Amino acid sequence: MFYFTNGLGSQMEKTMKATMTTAEVVNQWFVNHYTCPRCGAQWEDEWSSTVDDECPECQTRNISPHHSEEVAP
Ligand SMILES: [Zn+2]
Repeated sequence: MFYFTNGLGSQMEKTMKATMTTAEVVNQWFVNHYTCPRCGAQWEDEWSSTVDDECPECQTRNISPHHSEEVAP
């Protein structure tokens, strides 16, 4: 499993999703919804797991998604 902490990592995950055929990456895909506890920013991102993310507004790290939707790969 791969973990990244910023937008670059997200882009790499998406590239991997498009190019890799191994089961772990493509079997599950999530749209994670985040709310920053510090500044209240809300955003969502797509991941192959329910990973923590970094606030795009104030760069607070290790924010857990408050909601995750599983989507078809
Ligand atoms: Zn924030």
